[in-house]
Amino acid sequence: MRLSQFHLRTEKETPADAEVTSHKLMLKAGMLRKLGAGLYTWSPLGLRVLRKVEGIVREEMNAAGAIELLMPAVQPRELWEETGRWEKFGGQLLKMQDRKESWYCFGPTHEEVVTDFARSELASYKQLPVNFYQIQTKFRDEIRPRFGVMRAREFLMKDAYSFDIDEAGMAASYQTMHAAYTRIFTRLGLEFRSVQADSGAIGGDASQEFHVIADSGEDALVFSTGSEYAANVEAARAAAPAPRPAASETLRKVDTPTQKTCEDVAALLDIPLARTAKSIALMAGETFVLALVRGDHAVNAIKLAKVDGLGDYRMATEAEIAAHLGAAPGFLGPIGAAKPIRVVADLEVAALADFVVGANATGFHIAGVNWGRDLPEADVVADIRDVVAGDRAEDGGELKIARGIEVGHVFQLGRKYAEAMHFKVLDANGKATVPFMGCYGIGVSRIVAAAIEQNHDANGIVWPLAMAPWQVAVCVINPKNEAHVAEAADALYRELGAAGFETVLDDRGLRPGMMFGDIELIGIPHRVVVSARGLESGAFEYRARHASESENLDREALFSRLR
Ligand code: ATP
Ligand code: MG
Ligand code: MG
Ligand code: MG
Repeated sequence: MRLSQFHLRTEKETPADAEVTSHKLMLKAGMLRKLGAGLYTWSPLGLRVLRKVEGIVREEMNAAGAIELLMPAVQPRELWEETGRWEKFGGQLLKMQDRKESWYCFGPTHEEVVTDFARSELASYKQLPVNFYQIQTKFRDEIRPRFGVMRAREFLMKDAYSFDIDEAGMAASYQTMHAAYTRIFTRLGLEFRSVQADSGAIGGDASQEFHVIADSGEDALVFSTGSEYAANVEAARAAAPAPRPAASETLRKVDTPTQKTCEDVAALLDIPLARTAKSIALMAGETFVLALVRGDHAVNAIKLAKVDGLGDYRMATEAEIAAHLGAAPGFLGPIGAAKPIRVVADLEVAALADFVVGANATGFHIAGVNWGRDLPEADVVADIRDVVAGDRAEDGGELKIARGIEVGHVFQLGRKYAEAMHFKVLDANGKATVPFMGCYGIGVSRIVAAAIEQNHDANGIVWPLAMAPWQVAVCVINPKNEAHVAEAADALYRELGAAGFETVLDDRGLRPGMMFGDIELIGIPHRVVVSARGLESGAFEYRARHASESENLDREALFSRLR
């Protein structure tokens, strides 16, 4: 590709409305343009990266024996009524009517459609196991879309669905997908971790998430240094024994907060001070975090958002929260007054809370809304301990907490959908039986943002090789006035292409500073500069994106460096 014939439009200024690094850099690099809330145009540059991810996902799904198909994005209401999800799915389901006033939804996921396909296509155990997948646009009316394509409303997902004759088959299909996901994220060059996820009503170890490790991640992960144990906080909490006593029905509002220092909390939780401080910092991030503790759900920020399916934060003032809780203004004490508060979930949910637990860099802060319970503070403390410190150190290892971005999710569904939709196949004895399903999602578009969260520096994106829009950039100094330099660069560009390197020729004739700035911002892994001076001495100036120095290499050395 010659950049003079491509559409690249970078921005100098950091966009004001972007909160996280990946969103800022994607806008600055001109990969994305916003159309509306949670709706984005992928520019030609952005699309090149998206297609790279999609390509690797497709190759590994095919290699794992999954078979690609393509289902409609728009789905009839009747299908969703068969599983009861037309009502149950909630506000994320975008519903619409056609000219005949029939109802449809824009698919947030495809269990219903794929089960409908399967029940018309599959009749015998001989056709199983089978795994159908697609890479397709989904729509979820997220309560607060944010962070660009990280949490968009319209986004690209790879979704796969396996069908097996029995439970053991389902478990094997699940393992195959787990292995394929491991290969996908390894090939993408990302630091990732698979963790146990809360499998809700289905139970067991039947669900795992794949997370890209990044401090800005929305999910908290707990893992042990002593074993393979790794879980997201919800799953860790759900697996913990000893349910807390239920809260009383009546809320007794008490306005006396207790302020805890790191030292207090370390003593209460019986964990080392250093770890307490770190956990608090993790919980708090840059701003004050308000977590709500409701009934027997003692939750941290992430947990409550997940329990209520809201998955979100928003900023609020203490007065606003107090009004919702019916508490007196100032009830959060000195921490609450100091900063805007990042509220977990919606304030409507806050009204149901028994306790509010805040954390900032100096300490926890616990305020009782329903302060009348038996041992309320001890309950809260015990629950915080579950979350931040030790629900699981039996293997002797140290428990660590990391933040992650959910990029994949594998799930054993069992017979739930097939049963609800009356889907049966004949088994080896000729008896009609309900098959076992699994479902497997990958957030293809989210991966692009997650990769940037993990791979960037002050100058811009630093793509892992497999995701880069081009592997090599050939930058020409002063091509308009020095024809021999332009020719040499062009020859090198063609040679690199012929040798199998995806190469972009920056022949726009920009000043070197501007040109290098763009090439660094858009994250090209290898940069080669062709200049009159370099040609005289028979050298190309080479620099890897992650290196701080350039080197002068002759043609042969350059090619061997790129290989
Ligand atoms: P989250 O917890 O982030 O809301 P989810 O658990 O609701 O995600 P799944 O139903 O497991 O999502 O969907 C499969 C994958 O689709 C997720 O692992 C994630 O990578 C991606 N995904 C889900 N919601 C979004 C979104 N709003 N924007 C971009 N990608 C998304
Ligand atoms: Mg979600
Ligand atoms: Mg999730
Ligand atoms: Mg998920």
